[in-house]
Amino acid sequence: MKEFAPPPPRADGRVNLVGLSRDDLEAEVAKAGLERFRARQLWHWIYHRGATDFAVMSTLAKPVREKLADLYVIDRPTAVKDLKSEDGTRKWLARMPDGQEIETVHIPEEDRGTLCVSSQVGCTLTCRFCHTGTQRLVRNLDATEIVGQVMLARDHLDEWPAPPDGRMLSNIVMMGMGEPLFNYANVAKALKIVMDGEGIAISKRRITLSTSGVVPMMRQCGDELGVNLAVSLHAVNDELRDRIVPLNRKYPIKELMQACRDYPGLSNARRITFEYVMLKGVNDSLADARELVRLLRGIPAKINLIPFNYWPGAPFECSTDEQITKFANFVNNAGYASPVRTPRGRDILAACGQLKSESTKPTAQARIAALEAHKALQAEYAAQVAEKEAVLAATGTL
Ligand code: SAH
Ligand code: SF4
Repeated sequence: MKEFAPPPPRADGRVNLVGLSRDDLEAEVAKAGLERFRARQLWHWIYHRGATDFAVMSTLAKPVREKLADLYVIDRPTAVKDLKSEDGTRKWLARMPDGQEIETVHIPEEDRGTLCVSSQVGCTLTCRFCHTGTQRLVRNLDATEIVGQVMLARDHLDEWPAPPDGRMLSNIVMMGMGEPLFNYANVAKALKIVMDGEGIAISKRRITLSTSGVVPMMRQCGDELGVNLAVSLHAVNDELRDRIVPLNRKYPIKELMQACRDYPGLSNARRITFEYVMLKGVNDSLADARELVRLLRGIPAKINLIPFNYWPGAPFECSTDEQITKFANFVNNAGYASPVRTPRGRDILAACGQLKSESTKPTAQARIAALEAHKALQAEYAAQVAEKEAVLAATGTL
């Protein structure tokens, strides 16, 4: 299927060195007729110093720098938008050389800074509450584009050379657009570069990968990368989860829970985070909370309750604050930490239409028009989802 194609090569024929593993970089250096140790020097300049130009690489002789510049570039995606929220959250709209765009979000907190990284343009899956799920998948990101998001953020946060423990960018969550375990090879390659101690150097303890439940890839992810795992659970019975997280039809809750129990390296100090989006009247009852606690028995876990983030045409509403508190208290009393994720950067995420509808009282005519538009959007999204699911069923993905 065309959508899964990798990004095309650069028009000028030069190769971007960002996203090459150490071995690949050595092979490139050899191809260029240079000594092996040049690869190590380049690694330092690219990932520790954040160089984007060979000319600044003072440890390399001028002819070497010129040769490299003829054959290679050190490139990141271009930030075509740089939005800043009142609460300090930043969102970059990053454009790749082929014109595709993704979003990367930086969330500063008192003692850390977290970067939310995308793994695909769009997503193959169709979770009903997720805006990305209504987009047709365009393509997987390659390792260059995944590492490139981290480098772009470091550029904008002015955090080169990479500090030993990070200041503004200390943590990474693979929670942007896309399902990272459906693009595992590229995600793994990228995260290994990000974790390398002689470069960006963000440790596996500070990286969390979120999956909607791609059961067969979970163990490999734990064995090979050892990062923290977050699982988008969102429903406690197959009937509901089949509907709102359609991947459940392929990997039902029982199998998912077993894969969680088997996740390498779990302990009370290293728990799985279960994400649970609070959907009013759908999954937010105390009976759901009770079943959630029962399901998690024996798994070192914490539960992250996420207030539903509305988007135009979404077929759900967010649970009330009161219900979220009741749900959280129940889970807490059962012995599980259950922080409610504070929505960050709402002002920059919610720029389309919402501010206006809050500040002006719409006329009856405008309300009817808005309702019709909402229904039309829902129908359009439902059609897109149905079309995508037909393709996924035909290719055996679902
Ligand atoms: N594809 C992966 C990672 C990206 S999504 C996954 O699904 O886990 C990051 C988290 O945000 C997931 O738990 C996802 O289910 C949740 N999410 C998606 N849409 C949301 C919305 N509208 N409101 C709140 N959370 C949402
Ligand atoms: Fe959205 Fe994640 Fe579901 Fe994809 S897998 S549709 S990104 S929630």
